[in-house]
Amino acid sequence: MTTPHNIQPSSTVQPAVGTVPGARPIVLSARNLALAYDAHTHALRGVDLDIYSGQSLAIMGPSGCGKSTLLHCLAGILAPTGGRVLYGERDLRDMRDAARTKLRRTDFGFVFQDGQLLPELSALENVMLPRMLAGVSRRKAKTMAKHWLAALGLSGLEERRPGQLSGGQAQRVAIARALAGEPSVVYADEPTGALDQQTGQEVLHLLLRATADAGSALVMVTHDQSVAAACARTITMRDGQIEREVTR
Ligand code: ADP
Repeated sequence: MTTPHNIQPSSTVQPAVGTVPGARPIVLSARNLALAYDAHTHALRGVDLDIYSGQSLAIMGPSGCGKSTLLHCLAGILAPTGGRVLYGERDLRDMRDAARTKLRRTDFGFVFQDGQLLPELSALENVMLPRMLAGVSRRKAKTMAKHWLAALGLSGLEERRPGQLSGGQAQRVAIARALAGEPSVVYADEPTGALDQQTGQEVLHLLLRATADAGSALVMVTHDQSVAAACARTITMRDGQIEREVTR
């Protein structure tokens, strides 16, 4: 493992080279981000990236280029071995584990390929649970969960367990769960990868609309060019670095 380097005070951070700052504020920044799993595997090699509030970003590139590693570092799940991730004035690396866990519950939302819903809980309970873990009362968590399930077209299915839902419906529950906390940033790793083309497109457009309605930024890893094309920005990675960026 290498040691972190190139540390500057947060107040001196400038927008990353190659990004075009728009009117939107920056919600999350990576600076010179590096991650070496071991001496031979440098998954990230100096990534500079700004995530803008309420904007969608697709991360593309060939398998093994570092997409998931970048997503996990930006979400504070993986600790980089160099550089830093700034969320507002906070450097995720300087936070204690408990504070990072809390941040993930209160400020971030997650949608993974297979939804990762708890099979023993109903759709409603799956959406409520993270809110209650974040300290919200059961009553308020229920109201929020019902609202977001309805917003994703799932009214009437609240009491069903994941095994009683279609793949697309289960993924919509996962989106409702991610958005119920009104997060600043939603992280999605191949969220439509396990769905057929048509269902995947429906879920994608719901995800984009729901994050826009919630005012959340969306950071999404995808292999699918049509999924990326629906996002406001796309970065393409190669060998742990950003090779190019497109803003639409
Ligand atoms: P992508 O998401 O683009 O497929 P990853 O971020 O998963 O790429 O992986 C980037 C590189 O890091 C690859 O060479 C992969 O084999 C390696 N890698 C990923 N996870 C681990 C791990 N837990 N331990 C060691 N190497 C890993």
